[in-house]
Amino acid sequence: MSGAPALLGAIRAGLLCRCPNCGRGPLFAGFLSVKPVCEACGFDLKSADTGDGPAVFVILIAGFIACFGMVFHEVAARPPWWVLLLTWPLVGLIACLALLRPTKSLLIALQFHNKAGVGRLQGPNG
Ligand SMILES: [Zn+2]
Repeated sequence: MSGAPALLGAIRAGLLCRCPNCGRGPLFAGFLSVKPVCEACGFDLKSADTGDGPAVFVILIAGFIACFGMVFHEVAARPPWWVLLLTWPLVGLIACLALLRPTKSLLIALQFHNKAGVGRLQGPNG
């Protein structure tokens, strides 16, 4: 496979938290720990490493949702301050927990699709 269908397959496998190679086996052993080997196809998943990428995306997205929601709530309904304090940090926390797994899986699938590898420095002679 190549091109857009392969990209859509990688995105689908990522959003469903499945193996980036076959799209069937589960990717995670725990909440965020990646299985060393795919149960369905035997693909080696030990090299999958997204670093802090998923956390950065999730913090930005969940922070936007929580902050925008809190400002909208304040402007639209003028609730007591403690309602805002109890509601929107909880919304932010739930959004973080809900988005972290599929975001990590999606980044792993896109790394696999784009054949990402460890960066190498080249000398002056190439
Ligand atoms: Zn697999």
